[in-house]
Amino acid sequence: MAALFPVRLLRGYLGGASSPADPRVLTAMPSNDELRDDPGDVADPVGEQGRSPLPWVVRKHDDRVLLLLTKRCHLYCRYCFRRDHVPGEGEDPTAAEWGDMLHYAKHSGARELILSGGDPLAVTDARLFAAIDAVRPEVPVVRLHTRAPITFPQRVTSALVAGLRRRAPVWVLVHANHPVELSSPVREALARLVDAGLPVLNQSVLLRGVNDSASTLAELCEALVELRVFPYYLHHPDAAPGNAAFRLGLAEGWAIYEELRGKLSGIALPQYVIDPPDGSGKRPVSDML
Ligand code: SF4
Repeated sequence: MAALFPVRLLRGYLGGASSPADPRVLTAMPSNDELRDDPGDVADPVGEQGRSPLPWVVRKHDDRVLLLLTKRCHLYCRYCFRRDHVPGEGEDPTAAEWGDMLHYAKHSGARELILSGGDPLAVTDARLFAAIDAVRPEVPVVRLHTRAPITFPQRVTSALVAGLRRRAPVWVLVHANHPVELSSPVREALARLVDAGLPVLNQSVLLRGVNDSASTLAELCEALVELRVFPYYLHHPDAAPGNAAFRLGLAEGWAIYEELRGKLSGIALPQYVIDPPDGSGKRPVSDML
């Protein structure tokens, strides 16, 4: 299975789990379900292939440019939609690709640089900072889309935080799906980012059997607000081959969201969005019903 999509388990992340039904176990441990073909599978679930002007670059909007800094992650979420990662094969851009992608971004005319992956915090601080510095001042706003503060909070070092602070405006978009992920080390890592003045937002994915209940999501969003993290998006799951067990239908997801809406204040309620396979970019699920 690891030959199809890497497996990496972290003691710090999984150590607090006491049962196989724990959300951290369900999302991190590989399952035979991943080997099953499903009629709903989509090879390019969010339509990135047709929107990639050169390797490691995705361009869906004029004002934004997305760079994949690496395919590596600290932990591989079994529901992930980017599953084209074969360990040891092209996990990182070559030196020429790195130069080309940064040159493209700098001259793209975009206002926002989105650093993604893989996990952009799986690269060194020096490489991360070099990527940001390479596009400034032409691209003023940087967004760091990372799950590291949740899965590997030790990555949020004082040196990383200080380097990001010096490069403000840098927005940090983290990715927590369930309140049990908000352990003490995670809370401390999020506080380090917020205390440094970095805007921190959260994106969750709605996952069958993991967080598909309004009460669980409400608990997560309320906890995030207390941590000064804005619950920005609730993503409808993308239909990548191998993740069918985590998927649920639009009507089912919408019913959960309607219930969630009744439980939360405006600052705690995420937008429920879907990233369709046509590559047009995220839109509210309400538009698709
Ligand atoms: S950290 Fe993000 S990119 Fe990496 S496996 Fe998880 S969801 Fe996918």
